[in-house]
Amino acid sequence: MSFYPILTFEENKLSPSLGYLFKRQWVDPFESVVSILWKFARMNRLPGHRVVAHVARGQIDPYEGYAATANELDIRMTAASLGLTQKTIRLSMQRPEMRRSWCSQLRFCPQCMSRGYHSVVHQFDGVGYCPVHGCCLQTRCRSCGSTSEYLIKASVLDATFKCPNCRRSYGNSPLSFVHRIPMLPRDRAAIVRTFIY
Ligand SMILES: [Zn+2]
Ligand SMILES: [Zn+2]
Repeated sequence: MSFYPILTFEENKLSPSLGYLFKRQWVDPFESVVSILWKFARMNRLPGHRVVAHVARGQIDPYEGYAATANELDIRMTAASLGLTQKTIRLSMQRPEMRRSWCSQLRFCPQCMSRGYHSVVHQFDGVGYCPVHGCCLQTRCRSCGSTSEYLIKASVLDATFKCPNCRRSYGNSPLSFVHRIPMLPRDRAAIVRTFIY
């Protein structure tokens, strides 16, 4: 049972009049929606629970969270709020027609996390290694050993590229998604190949 109130749909919606800071250059190909929303929350100094509710299709408990699927997340609202195309948002989440099983725990490549990048392909069951770096994908925090659910959830979005339990960064070096070089074509191609096959 949650100790937090379930706020109504309207109470939780962010006001568009505030304006949001988001640049499409911060998003890499096949970036996961969790990764994208981490950046949105961080750059707009928004608490996770408000972002979770803002992008939900209906009334939800942001502390319980929901799956990163098109059934639960409002693609149109998310795309409009972030200034991204609906296609970008669609590609960032699980869709029924993909016929791939996804890991229910957050799986990550520490080197990609250092860049401020978590990809949908990292969540694919059967993909054990990062297509870009070749390192073994991980689910456990190196500091406290805990895993994180792969959900659009307040505690997850409050820990930007970090372990929600101990707040240690999942990456190997300081986060640099604002001042990073664009993804190299060969790295992009490696992600695309993994996504397709
Ligand atoms: Zn990687
Ligand atoms: Zn931890």
